[in-house]
Amino acid sequence: MLKSEYLQRVYDQVVARDPDQKEFQQAVLEVLESLDMIVDKHPEYEANGIIESFVEPERVITFRVPWMDDKGHVQVNRGYRVQFNSAIGPYKGGLRFHPTVNLSILKFLGFEQILKNSLTGLPIGGGKGGSDFDPKGKSDAEVMRFCQSFMTELYRHIGQFTDVPAGDIGVGGREIGYLFGQYRRIRDAHEAGVLTGKGLTYGGSLTRTEATGYGLCYLTQEMLKCMKNDSFSGKTVVISGSGNVAIFATEKATQLGGKVVALSDSNGYIHDPNGIQLDVVKDIKLGHRGRIKEYADRVPGSTYTEGFRGIWSIPCDIALPCATQNEIDAEAAEHIVKGGAIAVAEGANMPSTPEAIQIFQKAGLLFAPAKAANAGGVATSALEMSQNSMRYSWTFEEVDAKLQQIMVNIFHNI
Ligand code: NDP
Repeated sequence: MLKSEYLQRVYDQVVARDPDQKEFQQAVLEVLESLDMIVDKHPEYEANGIIESFVEPERVITFRVPWMDDKGHVQVNRGYRVQFNSAIGPYKGGLRFHPTVNLSILKFLGFEQILKNSLTGLPIGGGKGGSDFDPKGKSDAEVMRFCQSFMTELYRHIGQFTDVPAGDIGVGGREIGYLFGQYRRIRDAHEAGVLTGKGLTYGGSLTRTEATGYGLCYLTQEMLKCMKNDSFSGKTVVISGSGNVAIFATEKATQLGGKVVALSDSNGYIHDPNGIQLDVVKDIKLGHRGRIKEYADRVPGSTYTEGFRGIWSIPCDIALPCATQNEIDAEAAEHIVKGGAIAVAEGANMPSTPEAIQIFQKAGLLFAPAKAANAGGVATSALEMSQNSMRYSWTFEEVDAKLQQIMVNIFHNI
C-alpha cells in the first residue's frame, strides 16, 4: 500500500488496465514506492498527470514475424516494440529474443529504460522490443531469415532520430548484423545510427561489447571505494549468467583484482574455487555457443551443478547477477547474506525480487540497482550514435575512459 493516494490510484489503474502484466506491475511499484517519499512535495505532478503519463507507453507495436526454417516449414513468431518515452531523445533500448518474451516483460524493461537512460546524462529516451523467437539451436541461416523478416516490419517504426534498438538477451553482434543489413537494403541508405551494437567494420563502437559488464564493475568499484573505503582486490565474486554481460563483468572484476568463482546458464552453474578461466568460457560461449557445463569437463578442480538458482549458495563477497529478471528470490538472497557478501550490484534487469531487495537492505549490504548499475551498455550505445553522427571512430581507450566517467557520475547521482 502506498502512502500517497495519488500514487496508489495510478498503481491501481496500471493493475486494472493490464491485470496479467506482473513484471510490469513489479517495476512500476518499485518506482512508485521511491516516489512515495517525495511526491507530496510536488503537487504539480498530479495537477499535470505526470505519473499517469510516465507509466503509459507512448506507443506499443506488435507484429507477425513469419520465417522459413531449414526444413522448409513456415514458422510464425510475434514481434514487439514498446516506444515508452521520447521526452529527452529518440527511444533507445535493446531487442530481446527469448521464448519467455511477452508484453509484460518488454513494458517493464522499457519503463526502467527511461530512468536508466536519463541517468547516463545523454539525450536518449526509453524503449524496448523483441520477440518470442528462440535463437538457441537455430542455424545461422534460420537466424538470418528470422531477423530479415523481423526488420521487414520493424524498419518503418525506427530511425536514427526516432527509435534506436540494440541487443539484449539472445541478440548479439550476429543478430544486429542481419537486422542492420536488412534495414539498409529496404531504406537504400547507410543510416548507421539506427541500430547500436553493430560490427566494427560498419559503424560499431569499440568497447560496446564490453560496456555493460565493464560499466557494472566501474560503478561497483566506485561504490566500494566511497561507501567502504574498499575495492575488488582480493574479493571473491559470484556472477550469474554466461552471456555478454556476465563474460565482460568477469573480465573487468578479474582485472580489478577480484576472483570470480562461479558462472551459470539457464541449465546450471559451474564453481571453480581457483578462479574462472575466462579464455575457456569465451571459447565455449563465444567460440561455438556451447553450454557452461562444458567448462567443468575441461577445467580440473571445477564442478557443474544442475539448476541455475543454486549458484547463490556459493559464499562470496560481491554478487553480480547478470542473467535475467527475478533470478534472486528471498531464499537466494538469504544465502547471499549468510555467505558474508558486502555488496550486490545488478547487471541483469530487475534480477532481485522485492523480497530479496528488502533482505539485502535489512542486512546492510551495499545494493546497486540495475537502472544505475547496468547503464554502461546503453551509455556506450549513445556514444556509438555520436560517432555515427560525426562519421568518426574513437579508440578503445577513449570510449572506455568516457564509460568510466559516466559510471562514476551515475554512482554519485544516485
Ligand atoms: P545473453 O543472451 O548474452 O546472456 C544471457 C545469459 O543469461 C545466458 O547465460 C542465459 O543462459 C542466461 N539466462 C537467460 N534467461 C535465463 C533464465 N530465464 N533463467 C536463467 N538464466 C537465463 O544476454 P545479456 O548478457 O546481454 O543480458 C543479460 C542481462 O543483462 C539481461 O537481464 C539483460 O536485459 C541485461 N542487460 C544487457 C545489456 C547488454 O548490453 N547486453 C545492457 C543492460 C542490461 P542460456 O544461454 O541458458 O539462455
